[in-house]
Amino acid sequence: MFQASNPRILLSIFGLLTSLLTPPALASGEVNVYSARKEDLIKPLLDDFSKQTGIKVNLVTGKEEALLQRLQSEGVNSPADVLLTSDAGRLAAAQQAGVLQAVQSASLNQNIPAIYRDPDGYWYGLSVRARPIIYARDRVKPKQLSTYEALADPQWKGKLCLRSSDSVYNQSLVAGMIAHHGEAKTEAWARGLVANLARPPKGGDRDQIKAVAAGECDVTLANTYYLGGMISSSDDAEKQAAAQVAVFWPDVQTTGVHVNVSGAGVTAHARQRDNAIKLLEFLASDQAQRWYAEVNSEYPVNPAIPPSATLKSWGEFKADTLNVAKLGELNAAAVKLMDRAGWK
Ligand code: FE
Repeated sequence: MFQASNPRILLSIFGLLTSLLTPPALASGEVNVYSARKEDLIKPLLDDFSKQTGIKVNLVTGKEEALLQRLQSEGVNSPADVLLTSDAGRLAAAQQAGVLQAVQSASLNQNIPAIYRDPDGYWYGLSVRARPIIYARDRVKPKQLSTYEALADPQWKGKLCLRSSDSVYNQSLVAGMIAHHGEAKTEAWARGLVANLARPPKGGDRDQIKAVAAGECDVTLANTYYLGGMISSSDDAEKQAAAQVAVFWPDVQTTGVHVNVSGAGVTAHARQRDNAIKLLEFLASDQAQRWYAEVNSEYPVNPAIPPSATLKSWGEFKADTLNVAKLGELNAAAVKLMDRAGWK
């Protein structure tokens, strides 16, 4: 007999009503992404993700600092589910600012080596970038080069160009040096670099490569995807500049070439947490990893995916095996050290 007072029946009626009143939840739904990576570097991948899963991706792009501030000020009201950004230093800064949450995923842990993700799951590296020495083909012989440390030798006086200490890429490089050699040695090295500068630090990575090509300096440090971008550039001047320089892999006998990641994390207040994790899993999948390698001239995080032809042309190298999370941990120490060393 029907008894409306029976709580179990009431519950089931309530359940039925809710299921009638709620539109059938699209298995898919949406996911909101804040990306510090430029739209053309990420959009084609996001479109593929939507095609495969039916999950609509709403993309907001902006500068690293601005997106982090926005996430902080939006707090629990933030619509963002995923933060995509470059450099372990920035991923760690986002984690420290409390805008990310830890997530665990068997597929992320399987596709991304432990050294390229946060040990607690707050962020995951999605592409690897290497920061080797770039030198002038006509003025430098590879046998003159060996390590990052040796760039501080007086033989490079007036021959080194560097990006400023504001660059998180250089901050992470210095953080890596601190991890391997300690602060005292790293500071002496940084002073040596500063003493060898051909000009005050200025410009981005591409500008350093162009300065070497133009003869302003003989050696510099840059992420290889910038050189890759110049090689395939539609701008003839960039193409010609790229042809004047070559890549040297430093420290391969010792600690390995400094590497970093671009990566992503699920935001602290993500409403579409499951979709956010699905997106991260897609970005670490074979298909997306291949795309990173071919289109962005970055190294796949997933070691099963081969690098692109351009990357192969620069040869293989031993990469630093330090967990990139260390670069974030030591970021503040690196910034202070660079300041003390007079690295503008
Ligand atoms: Fe970059």
